[in-house]
Amino acid sequence: MKKSALVTGVSGQDGAYLSRLLLEKGYTVYGLLQRSTRYAFANLDYLGVTADVDFVDGDLTDEASLINAVCRTRPDEIYNLAAQSFVGTSWDQPILTTEINAVGTMKLLEAAKRHAPQAKFYQASTSEMFGNCHQDGLQTEETPFHPRSPYAISKLCAYWIVNNYRESYGMFCVNGILFNHESPIRGKEFVTRKISHNVAKIKLGLSERFGLGNLDSTRDWGFAGDYVEAMFLIMHQDVPENFIVSTGETHSIRDFLTVAFNHVGIPDWEKHVYVDPAFKRPAELFSLKGSSRKAQEKLKWTPKVKFEELVRMMVDADLERLRNTNKVNR
Ligand code: NAP
Repeated sequence: MKKSALVTGVSGQDGAYLSRLLLEKGYTVYGLLQRSTRYAFANLDYLGVTADVDFVDGDLTDEASLINAVCRTRPDEIYNLAAQSFVGTSWDQPILTTEINAVGTMKLLEAAKRHAPQAKFYQASTSEMFGNCHQDGLQTEETPFHPRSPYAISKLCAYWIVNNYRESYGMFCVNGILFNHESPIRGKEFVTRKISHNVAKIKLGLSERFGLGNLDSTRDWGFAGDYVEAMFLIMHQDVPENFIVSTGETHSIRDFLTVAFNHVGIPDWEKHVYVDPAFKRPAELFSLKGSSRKAQEKLKWTPKVKFEELVRMMVDADLERLRNTNKVNR
C-alpha cells in the first residue's frame, strides 16, 4: 500500500527537498502549511513539486490544528521540520521561538501519540545544540550540549521531548542532529544565501557592497538535497536512534566568500564586504564540525556535494534568478 508522510515546514528549504524525495519514492505527501506562510509555494515551485503535495492547514502553536492534521491524514511517518529557524531572530523573539520549536513539537507528539501512535516521528534537531562544546575538535552523538541561543535552547528542549516520548511510550521517535545545510532555496536571511545573493548582485552591477557579522566563524556546510536522504534513512532503521548528519569538513565565512567571489571572477572580495557589528551574535558560536561516522556506518550515508560545488551552485542559481527578474544579460 502507498505510504504517507505528514511534513511540517513543507514550504521551507528542507520541506521542499524532502517532499520531492518522498514523492520520488511513491509517498503521498501531506504538507502542513500556515495560513500566514512566508515562503508559500516558492521553494516547492522551484523544485517542481507543488502540485503533487496535499496541503493541510496548521500551525505548530495551534494544538487543535495539529490534531486535525494528524486525524485527517493518519500518516505512516511524520517529519517535524517546522521551526522559527533563524538564530538571530531567536534573541528578538525568544518566547515565540520556544512556543514553536519546543512546545509545538510536544503538541505534535501528543497529537501523534493519541491519534496516530504507530506513526514514526522525525525531529529536525540541530548542531547549534552543541554550542562551543566539542571533543578533539569534533561534535559526535556523545558530545555534551551547551546551547548558546534561544533557538538552540528551544531545539534542545524538543530533542529531549522526542527522546522522552520514545522512552516513555515506545514510539518510533528520532532526532536527526543536522549540521548546517544549504541550497539555492536557503532563506535569504542565512549567511550563505546572503553571500550568494549579494555576490550575484555585485557581479551583475546591481550592488557594490554588503555587511556580514563574524567572518572567522567556521561551520560544517553540506547540501540540503543530501541531508534529506539521511532523514529518510534515519526513519527507516529497525531501531529508533539519533544520528548526526554532517560533512566532517569545516570552512570559515571567509572561505565561503573566497569561493563565491572567485567563481564570478572577482578575487578582491574585501572591497565588497564590510563587517557590521549589528550582525554579531550576543553569544557567539565559533566553530562547528560534526562526525557523521555513525550515519556512515549504520545508514551507509555519505554526503555527495562538496563545499566548493555547493557554493558555486548557490551563486549560479542566484545569478540566474537575478538575470530573469532584472533582465540583465551580462
Ligand atoms: P526554513 O527554510 O526556515 O523552514 C522553516 C519552515 O517552518 C517553513 O516552512 C515555515 O513556514 C515553517 N514554520 C515556521 N513557523 C511555523 C509554525 N508556527 N507552524 C507551522 N510551520 C511553521 O528551515 P529549513 O532550513 O528548511 O530547516 C528545517 C528544519 O531543520 C528547521 O526545524 C530547522 O530549525 C532545522 N535545521 C536546519 C538546519 C539548516 O542548516 N538548514 C540545520 C539544523 C536544523 P512559513 O513558510 O510559514 O514561514
